[in-house]
Formats: sequence, C-alpha cells, structure tokens
Amino acid sequence: MPGAIYLNKRIETAGLKEIHKLQSAKLAKQLDYLFARSLFYEDKFRAAGIRRKDYRRLTDLARFPFTTKDELRESQAACPPLGRHIAAKLDDVIRVHSSTGTTGRPSFVGLTKRDARIWTAITARSFYTQGLRKSDIVIHAAGLTLFVAGLSSKDAIESVGAMFVPIGTGASEKALMAIQLLKATAMHCTPSYATYFADWVRREADLDPKALGLKKLFCGAEPGAGIPAVRAKLQADWGARVTEGLGNADMAPIIFSECPDQSGMHFNGQEYVLAEIIDPDSGTVLPVEKGVTGELVYTSLERECVPLLRFRTRDRVTVLDTSCPCGRSSFKVRCIGRTDDMLIVLGVNVFPSAVRDIVSSFYPRTTGEIQIVLDQPGPRVVPPLKIVAEFAGPASDVSQLKSEIESKIKAVLTVPAWIDLVAAGTLPRFEMKGQLVKKGYESKAAGERRPGKTST
Ligand SMILES: [Zn+2]
Repeated sequence: MPGAIYLNKRIETAGLKEIHKLQSAKLAKQLDYLFARSLFYEDKFRAAGIRRKDYRRLTDLARFPFTTKDELRESQAACPPLGRHIAAKLDDVIRVHSSTGTTGRPSFVGLTKRDARIWTAITARSFYTQGLRKSDIVIHAAGLTLFVAGLSSKDAIESVGAMFVPIGTGASEKALMAIQLLKATAMHCTPSYATYFADWVRREADLDPKALGLKKLFCGAEPGAGIPAVRAKLQADWGARVTEGLGNADMAPIIFSECPDQSGMHFNGQEYVLAEIIDPDSGTVLPVEKGVTGELVYTSLERECVPLLRFRTRDRVTVLDTSCPCGRSSFKVRCIGRTDDMLIVLGVNVFPSAVRDIVSSFYPRTTGEIQIVLDQPGPRVVPPLKIVAEFAGPASDVSQLKSEIESKIKAVLTVPAWIDLVAAGTLPRFEMKGQLVKKGYESKAAGERRPGKTST
C-alpha cells in the first residue's frame, strides 16, 4: 500500500506567494510574542535600534539582528537552566533535549506542548517526503536520549502510523536481531553508522546486508548520504534507497529531506520555520535560486520556549533546484559542510566532505574512508593537504592510485594534496558521526604515534 504522495498536499505544493503570505503573517505574530516575552531579544533589539514597527513585510526581516550559537550558550550559562532566551514559563516546558556540544557542557533546548507538536509535524513531513509510509517498520539506530532527533523521530514516525523500533546507538547486535525478527523495512541512522553496520553485519554475522531486506535508509545528522559516491556505496551495500535529511538542534530535528527523486533535500518547514540563505562573510541575504551557495539561517514562526530569530546555523548549503518531479514546490539543497569544519588551503575553502567525495569516487579501488591530518590548528592549512585514505584493490595499484587521487583533488578543489594510502580497515570507523579531520598536533603533543603505515 503506497499511501498518498504528500502528507499535506496543500502546503507542500503551494506557490511561493502563498507560502510567503503565510510566513509573513506568522512572523508578525511571532515578533509580537518576542517583543512581549523575550528579555534576550529585548536587549538585542535595543542594541540594534530595532522596534516592532520596523517589521511590516517579510523583506524587513533582513534589518533584524542575527542570533548565534555562542549567544545562546552564554545566555544559558548566565541564566540557568535554559537561558535568558527562553520565552515560556519553565512550568510549561514538557521536555528538554540537548545539542551535541564538544565543549562538555550540554546546551539544552526546551519544548512546550505546542512546540513538541510542531516538531512532530515538521519531522513527520520530512520522513514522509523521504518515503516513510504507515506500513513501514523503522529501526531507529541513532541517538535516543538527549539527541533532538531521538524521541522526536519516535513521535514523528508514530504520527504517520509506521512502527518505530527504538534501538539507539552502540547496539548492532540488537539492531540486527530486530531487523530479522520484525522484518524491518527501513532504518534511520547516520551515514557513518550505515557504513559501519554494513561492515559489522558481514564480519560479525557473516551475512550480506542486502539479504536483510531493508528497503529504505533514512540518513542524517551529518553530510554524506547525499554525496553521489557515498550514496552509491550505501545503496549497493544495503540494496535500499538512501535519502538524507538535515535539521538543527536549536531549531527542529529534521527540516530538510530528500524525496525519492534523490536530487537534493526539500525544505519542509514551510509554515513553521523561515529559512534564509546568507553570504556568511557579509551577512547579505542571497536569493533562493538554483546554484546559490551560502549559510542557512533559520527564524522560528511559531515557537514558545525557544523562539529564535535569524539563527545562524553554520551549515553551508547549495540550492540545487526550486522545482521537482515529485511536485513539491519547496526549494532543494545539498549541505556541503559546516563552516566550523571548513579548511582554508592557499585561500581556497575546502570542506572535508568534498575531499571524501573525491576519494569515494575511486571506489572500489578505495573504501571511501578518509582522514585529513592537521599538523596545526585550522582552518588555515599549510599545503599540501595531508589525507590518509584506504586502498581496497591490489597493492600493485597503490602508487598509481595515489597519483590519480592527488591529481583529481588538484583538478577539482584546486589545492595540492598528499595522499597516504593505508590498507582497508586501518582507519577508525565511527558509529555515530564520522570524524573526517584528525588533529595530528594533539596526538603529537600526547606522544602518540601517527596511525596507519605508509604503503607507498
Ligand atoms: Zn521532490
């Protein structure tokens, strides 16, 4: 039973004019709420000389100040537990999540009942766009506890009527057993885990992952599943259609997701989130047109606990199209990386995921696994860019392969690279998010030896 194409046909196929009208009216109400309820924004607006009457139409939003993650962190540290930026009573908060911080201190995001309903609606629309249907049995092999896309995915998948199987992370045996016993049709996980788990199934259970019968892989939480070579390998491993999603811990769990056309992630936040694309250096708003690349900025349109205005995500995206064979009218993007991860080599911006994309294109001569090794803290890298990659073919191919990869990186990214090819299985595999960059200077300081032996 295929089910309808859309979860909300009117919204998902609406023209831009209708969506803008809806967003403009909702933003006016959200601003009324902010001016009345948010001490955090009261300060920011005063500092920027912005008054409520400065907003009359959607384009006026460009005059309002941005909000950064650092501001939210400072606000939470200064005014625990949830920060000065929360605009609902603590009594009305029904759940908290936390974003995955590397700083040690969790960064909490609170939800009221209404906020949770909206997260469910956006997340359900995202999964449905990816092809989730009522008849699906979904293995959730991703974070379940504080992770924003844990319980929110449960709510969303259940709201569609599909079966949610809460496995979590670090539980490959349980995941395999559940897939076999429940005859699961779909799995939700990071692309790193989908790669790791396929290897695990072959190695530990002596089974071909394809034989497990999964039909749909819903990937997210990191770029990867949209990279053609990575996607092709995952689809070959699992015999399943791979689609990816993109969210933001402070805004909503999954806001963009790919339809089965697999040609970029549709924006699914229409009446709940306003998405702008800006030039990350100047802050100028860019037109949402095919080919435009910039940083995603989100404004919530109907949020009580953490209403955020022009929140800078640091996610760098490219608009792939503004129409689609599936009939959805929302624009489609591919995430090319996070500004935080970006490296600069001889003045050229290099995203680690772009390097992996090139190395993956040599599959099956490479496994597609890479690690960029930095000798000193980024983002500036003294050339050549050092990359450890795994060869999977015969040892006699190694020196030829090394020179081909180096040439392709030079041709595509215009930066010089130095490839260290190591045997398949040498690089660490990550169950959660992959780590494409290794801080070589930290291990050097700790007296650790560099992993992997040069085979060339
Ligand atoms: Zn589509």
